[in-house]
Amino acid sequence: MPDSHVAIIGAGIVGAATAIWAQRAGLKVTLIDRLEPGEGASYGNGGVLASCAVVPVPVPGLLRQGPSYLFNPSRPLFLKWSYLPRLAPWLLAYLRRANDRDARATARALTALIADSLADHRALALGTPAAPYLHPCDFVYAYRTRRDFEADAYTYALKRENGFSWQEFEGAALRQYDPALTGDVSIGAVFGDHGRISDPGAYVKALVAHLVAQGGDFVRGDVTEISHKTGRVSGLRVDGKMMACDAVVLTAGAWSGPLARSLGVRAPVETERGYHIELWNPSIMPESPILFSAGQFVATPMEGRLRLAGIVEFGGLRAQPSRAPFDLLLRQACAAMPGLSWDEKTEWMGHRPVLPDSLPIIGQSPDIKGAFLGFGHHHVGLTGGARTGRLLAQLVAGQTPNIDMTPYAPGRFSAGVSKGASG
Ligand SMILES: Cc1cc2nc3c(=O)[nH]c(=O)nc-3n(C[C@H](O)[C@H](O)[C@H](O)COP(=O)(O)OP(=O)(O)OC[C@H]3O[C@@H](n4cnc5c(N)ncnc54)[C@H](O)[C@@H]3O)c2cc1C
Repeated sequence: MPDSHVAIIGAGIVGAATAIWAQRAGLKVTLIDRLEPGEGASYGNGGVLASCAVVPVPVPGLLRQGPSYLFNPSRPLFLKWSYLPRLAPWLLAYLRRANDRDARATARALTALIADSLADHRALALGTPAAPYLHPCDFVYAYRTRRDFEADAYTYALKRENGFSWQEFEGAALRQYDPALTGDVSIGAVFGDHGRISDPGAYVKALVAHLVAQGGDFVRGDVTEISHKTGRVSGLRVDGKMMACDAVVLTAGAWSGPLARSLGVRAPVETERGYHIELWNPSIMPESPILFSAGQFVATPMEGRLRLAGIVEFGGLRAQPSRAPFDLLLRQACAAMPGLSWDEKTEWMGHRPVLPDSLPIIGQSPDIKGAFLGFGHHHVGLTGGARTGRLLAQLVAGQTPNIDMTPYAPGRFSAGVSKGASG
């Protein structure tokens, strides 16, 4: 469909990548966001192209550990209890997958999407002002004790099964590998051939600047409706005004649920609220992103600052950030990197888009022609965003992607959703 007009809702990493690849496929592209580009989850993430992070959180044994996580203030899991009634159906569906068969299926499907992330981002950023933000590097998982590391044996076995290998560094060898690690960690699993983005928000803005320089449009506005008649997309409503288009791609991250439903797609998308602290001009800068297992946060070198990012808090899209996650992040970072000091500190909270099977929705609406969806990338949306955008652009352009798209099918949660007519 060259010359068709595609409107893309949401200018995070997924929407921006879709827009770039759709433009390269010869489509006329309008990218829409109610904020400036790259100001949702794609702004504040840990910046890691975490290709090896293919194993979901629900694995066998989670049900035994989960409750102790919730009641232990030094664990990185928080819940706003007033949100529990609303969260309960999602949480049950999520926890039901804490079994070997589902964990393996998810790991396989994530591997297809994120294993080549660095190459996918290089291809995306090539010839754009985003390229300088992309850096090849290792990715390190750091543990306090060998026992803690061995407690993750199931996860490492699944990583290996999906083609990942690592090197272990212990004690003095770990400190020699990265002198930043002088604190309460004693063993590290180091994965090579990974990558990081040294300013994720600026990276997305640079991609969108390229889109516009090449003749695409960025429109700042709130999309409240996607109109479709006789089973085909005809346009969308932006800040109250109708905009005609031939195809729509919904890449609105954690906010995608209601618009997806209007396309006949039931998408039980929740938010896993995540937090970051940035320490400007820090006294210690790790060589590569380090995931501190005890606190489940990453410390990533970024331009001029160290970003500590992680924490999972369930509490919905509207509640204000909580104080405790910020305090926990800082406490754990200082324990891992004693002597850490900085000039200035900034704080942020954002929304990871999460579906109960830990996989994104990527594909075409089963009922409405010209309607495509791409959201729900959990903790690996930056990692998988470049490939997802390419896949979506291929689908919009009428091409067949070269990977099995079944695991990401938009209709997989949808039994009996009525889409109605609109517009
Ligand atoms: C603390 C934290 C750390 C993370 N670390 C990593 C990491 O190291 N590596 C990794 O791969 N991933 C990481 N992630 C996950 C990653 O950030 C997300 O999965 C990813 O950014 C999701 O991208 P997106 O484009 O789907 O959504 P977003 O970036 O949230 O973009 C969605 C956009 O849609 C817009 N929008 C929504 N509704 C509408 C509407 N109706 N009209 C107009 N615009 C709309 C929003 O304004 C927003 O800009 C982390 C996340 C967090 C919170």
